[in-house]
Amino acid sequence: MEKIQEIYQYQEVLEILLKAKHPIISTHANPDGDTIGSALGLYHFLKTQNIEAQLIGQDLAPSFLQWLPGYTDFILWDKQGRKLKKAVQQADVIVHVDYNTFHRAGTEVAKLLESASATHLIIDHHPYPDEVFAAKISAPSACATAQLVYELTQAHHAHILPQKVATALYVGLMTDTGSFSFGMTDEQPYMIAAALVKSGIDDRWIHQQVYNNNSLHRLQLTGYALSSKLQVFAEDSWAMISLSKAELKQYHYRPGDTEGLVNQALSVKGVQMAVLLTEQNGMIRLSFRSQGDFAVNTIAGKHFNGGGHRNAAGGRSYTTLDKTIAQLKEHIQAYEAELIRLKNSC
Ligand code: 5GP
Ligand code: MN
Repeated sequence: MEKIQEIYQYQEVLEILLKAKHPIISTHANPDGDTIGSALGLYHFLKTQNIEAQLIGQDLAPSFLQWLPGYTDFILWDKQGRKLKKAVQQADVIVHVDYNTFHRAGTEVAKLLESASATHLIIDHHPYPDEVFAAKISAPSACATAQLVYELTQAHHAHILPQKVATALYVGLMTDTGSFSFGMTDEQPYMIAAALVKSGIDDRWIHQQVYNNNSLHRLQLTGYALSSKLQVFAEDSWAMISLSKAELKQYHYRPGDTEGLVNQALSVKGVQMAVLLTEQNGMIRLSFRSQGDFAVNTIAGKHFNGGGHRNAAGGRSYTTLDKTIAQLKEHIQAYEAELIRLKNSC
């Protein structure tokens, strides 16, 4: 198997960034807490160095992230496409945070990024980054991209971080580790959390903003999905939830409303892999989660135009929901013996 590389060019990234005149910080499509938190952490850190970066992204973030200080400074493709295009054309440096290949920025934004004349930098924890980056912080062993942004600030000796930086990085760290529950490989995420708490963040309040801010519709959608749409297969070794466009509409779906749902499917005793399928924007999004050694990024990559981490991956399908479910079940058949074996051995 190809070796997964860890590249830590903190000084090279800092050198390019700290000289930048018009830097852009770019986030991935369907943004999550790590891409938004990492981008805002970097944005506020650069401000402390008198560097004014421009934040960009394709889609509006879920409402449980919009409270973050500085979020309204984002230029979003969906709302301000012309402004975003101009910013990319004028940029001298573009930092890509929490994604490894341009198309993850969203189809339209990716086209702009490809035609940009800027120097490209990456800060990310997904394996196999594109070749285009002039300097890289690319570490699949990191539990969150926010961890790498934190380490970048430390490489610049910013020992006590301003509240805005620390709060944003804490959101990235907390959300991508499932509130420190995803089995970290070492103590580093806890050490960083401790340093952020020392910087004066209100961790309880942050948790409240992210997790206890549900709309009634969101909770009802979760209730419906769990009571009527959760299915288990192959001796309860894998689980699936599918939600059609009509079902999402019935519960007034907003971006982020299904965040975490796939983890609930994975929490069924014995389940080694869970898949959430949602019909949105004329395609089917697939969200994969797994336990332990069972790798879902290869399934997402091989069959569903996607990829990701071993235990959390995503993909897309451009046929109907029913056909996608049928394809998924067919592909998973090849893995069922392994899923059952893993279930019985844990
Ligand atoms: P989610 O299920 O939360 O949308 O995505 C889980 C993880 O899968 C993300 O953190 C990201 O790493 C990865 N991922 C999701 N969609 C894609 C995709 O289309 N391509 C790749 N390469 N990774 C994806
Ligand atoms: Mn991440």
